[in-house]
Amino acid sequence: MPNDTKTANAPLGNLEEWEDFLKERYPENGSGDHAFQAIDPNKKKEEFRNYETTARPSVREFYRLNHLHQTFDFVQAKRREFLSLKRREMSIWEALEFLNTLVDDSDPDTDLSQLDHLLQTAEQIRQDGHPRWFILTGLIHDLGKILCLFGEPQWAVVGDTFPVGCVYSDRIVFHDYFSENPDSREPRYQTKLGIYREQCGLDNVFLSWGHDEYLYQVTKDYLPSEALYMIRYHSFYPAHRDGEYDYLMNDQDRAMFKWVQSFNPYDLYTKSHERPNMKELRPFYDDLIKEFFPPVLKW
Ligand code: FE
Ligand code: FE
Repeated sequence: MPNDTKTANAPLGNLEEWEDFLKERYPENGSGDHAFQAIDPNKKKEEFRNYETTARPSVREFYRLNHLHQTFDFVQAKRREFLSLKRREMSIWEALEFLNTLVDDSDPDTDLSQLDHLLQTAEQIRQDGHPRWFILTGLIHDLGKILCLFGEPQWAVVGDTFPVGCVYSDRIVFHDYFSENPDSREPRYQTKLGIYREQCGLDNVFLSWGHDEYLYQVTKDYLPSEALYMIRYHSFYPAHRDGEYDYLMNDQDRAMFKWVQSFNPYDLYTKSHERPNMKELRPFYDDLIKEFFPPVLKW
């Protein structure tokens, strides 16, 4: 069990450890293309157990902290703390450059920066001929990770998201760690619906706090709904990859989740070791950003 403060707040050597673990759980289908990846209803609970037992201790500790601390009240407190968007005013590029100052313990020679991941994601979407807003979404989708630079612990920035205020689906990875969460002893949060109504729509549901919701709130006035769904729910793996919590969704959510699902393979499987040529790409992305965003946004 880690006991110094740094490891206690940041069990992961870098944020990519969480994403590498996602790739183990949701391996790319053999074809190698980036086509729609459907929910696999046959994936069994036991398979998840296997990923849990073979996960690195750092990843396990990360999920333990996430499941322990992400209570309903914690989510409300973080929303109050961050969603007034009064921390900074930055352009999209300034935010990208700010995120890129996030250096973690990874080997600088072999690992790509945050900005490299975002550019690779966007470039793959562009190569596949998708609309401009889709490419832009690829470029910005992880900008919410600047929460780390505001001093937030890893488990409050990344990790698969899940609803708070109702029962934890047993398909959420490391489900057993929820027994440490104080909400698991709140009977009103432990029924199927909890504080929600059937099909109330995800806009009325509070998910565990992280980089998805934060960036959604920053960008919600500027992008089409499809893009906003991708941003807001790209870490909601229990729903978009495992088909859970359908009973909280309305028809719009169900229609829009097709887009969340079509985005996911780009997020998970486009990492290559080739560093994108920033100089060449910059004019294209400058124009693209200008098309949708004002010169400065509130963060
Ligand atoms: Fe992300
Ligand atoms: Fe990502």
